This record gives sequence, structure tokens and C-alpha cells, in this order.
Amino acid sequence: MTLSQTLQDALNDQIKYELASAHLYLSMAAYCETLNLSGFAHWMRVQYQEEAAHAMKFFEFINDRGGRVIIQGIAQPPTDFDSPLDVFQKALENEQAVTALINRLYELATRENDYPTQVMLHWFIEEQVEEEKSATEIVELLKMTGGQGAALIMLDRQLAVRRGEH
Ligand code: MG
Repeated sequence: MTLSQTLQDALNDQIKYELASAHLYLSMAAYCETLNLSGFAHWMRVQYQEEAAHAMKFFEFINDRGGRVIIQGIAQPPTDFDSPLDVFQKALENEQAVTALINRLYELATRENDYPTQVMLHWFIEEQVEEEKSATEIVELLKMTGGQGAALIMLDRQLAVRRGEH
């Protein structure tokens, strides 16, 4: 069963959204570097790599289904943030938006009776639960500690040990 044009277009759009997320997190890493928070910057660099890997999962899936990948342009991400808390609140908002996009893609695959796309998206549906959970945890820690002084340095050390998963 070949991909419908509608679904192929939506999957190509998702490659763009994943790459835009990667771009956003790399920009956040650059901002964290300006604060000398190398652990926060490291966490964001790992996040950047994960989003690029997500884009490649869609890239490979489209090709496996005999479709045509179209790489689209992405806008410049924000470059300035108010604080580490602002960074993670915006990262969380971005993940919530991506979750909505993945859910919409799943609804489309269901409407089109495209079962392979539905199965492929199960991984992303689970992944988004993790993405929202990890961003929420860091937002909550930053709020709880006030995100300053020794607490901020301890959190920076904790984020420095994050390893890539996907
Ligand atoms: Mg992603």
C-alpha cells in the first residue's frame, strides 16, 4: 500500500517540525552557553540530536513506503531567553505543540486507513509522553529552587550527565 499524497505531505511537514525543534534546542544550547551553564547546554545539545534523529525516522519511513521526501525551509528560532526557567518553559510548550502535531498525524493516518503509519506513530506517541515529562520535571525543579545560586549549579551538574537515548 503506497502512501497517499495527503499523508506524504503531512509526514514531510513533520520532518520540518522535527528539524525546527532541533534548531530551537540548538539555539537554547547556545543561550545556556552564554550563561556558562554547560550542563544545561549539554542537555539541549542532546535534545537537538534527538530531534534530528526523529526527523530521520520520518525520512526513512517515507522512503520505506516508496514516497518522496521533500526537505522544507525552517524559520530562525528565538535566540534570546529570560532565564533557564524561561528556556525550559518554552521547551515544554514546544513539546506540547509537537504532541498535538503527532496526534493530528495519527488522526489523519486513521482516517486514511494507513495502518503502517499508525504503527510507526505509536513510537512517537510514547516518546512525546517522555518528552513532556522530562521538560516538566526540569521546569518544576527550577521553580521549586528559584533557579538561582547553588541550586542552579547543582541542577547544571545533573543535566551535564544526560546521555542520548534515541
Ligand atoms: Mg521530536
